[in-house]
Amino acid sequence: MPNGIHGKTAIVTGSTSGIGLAIAERLAESGCNVVLNGFGDAIAINATCVTLAERTGVHVSHSGADMSKPDQIEAMVREAEEVHGAVDVLVNNAGIQHVSPVEGFPPDKWEQILAINLSSNFYTVRAALPGMKRRGWGRIVNIASAHGLVASPYKSAYVAAKHGVLGFTKSVALEVAETAITCNAICPGYVKTPLVEGQIKDQARAHNMPEEQVVRDVILASQPNKRFVATSALADLVLFLCSSSADAITGTALPVDGGWTAR
Ligand code: NAD
Repeated sequence: MPNGIHGKTAIVTGSTSGIGLAIAERLAESGCNVVLNGFGDAIAINATCVTLAERTGVHVSHSGADMSKPDQIEAMVREAEEVHGAVDVLVNNAGIQHVSPVEGFPPDKWEQILAINLSSNFYTVRAALPGMKRRGWGRIVNIASAHGLVASPYKSAYVAAKHGVLGFTKSVALEVAETAITCNAICPGYVKTPLVEGQIKDQARAHNMPEEQVVRDVILASQPNKRFVATSALADLVLFLCSSSADAITGTALPVDGGWTAR
């Protein structure tokens, strides 16, 4: 596969864990400098940066910017441009979940989910796009969800935010369509990350069921292949979208969901 990212620089938001970390690792393995972002234990995050840099030979740093804070997002992008000279690849991945009936949905949770899962995409793109335009190349990949295409009950903020991500992705793609910048969204089904492991435990408690049964009958109820999506499959797709083979793929929402949205 043609590799257009060797020597380039990527920011992957929410990459101290789960899907984001797998994407950051794959980009680094392909010769791309990476700026990790997200929360967690400072010593563990530093160890991840050092180990990944040693293993891949690229520059790996970490920004603790909070994706619900526009000024911190702007500062993260500016710092990456100063340190690396560019932000060529932007992966908007940070996201959180809260499950509740809509009438009892806490307003602060609604605002937080909209800010982290949707508005952060606007603020990162707003900050990074001028540099991509100046350099004449860029890749923006927004990690949405199957919940960007279809809904589930009790996830109103998440579903609204992820549907919003798809609309935003299309608008940005059209605005830059005549340049060599593409903007796409990936819509994963269930992936076994800390975000979902928490949901398995909660549901097992709520339904008084063994965790294996929760996985099959509750979590993967809407995922026809009954298997979690591998983080490596999502990382490989991001890498493909960064290649020159994907030059004409823009404004899309790509499901990786075991058939969920085929129903
Ligand atoms: P995760 O909980 O494993 O990781 C989330 C990451 O986001 C962590 O690095 C965390 O520190 C970071 N983060 C959270 N709040 C942040 C904030 N305010 N500022 C900066 N970073 C913040 O989750 P995951 O499952 O890897 O999810 C990653 C993305 O994929 C999310 O957008 C999620 O909605 C989406 N997604 C996940 C699944 C799934 O089944 N796991 C399915 C579809 C879509």
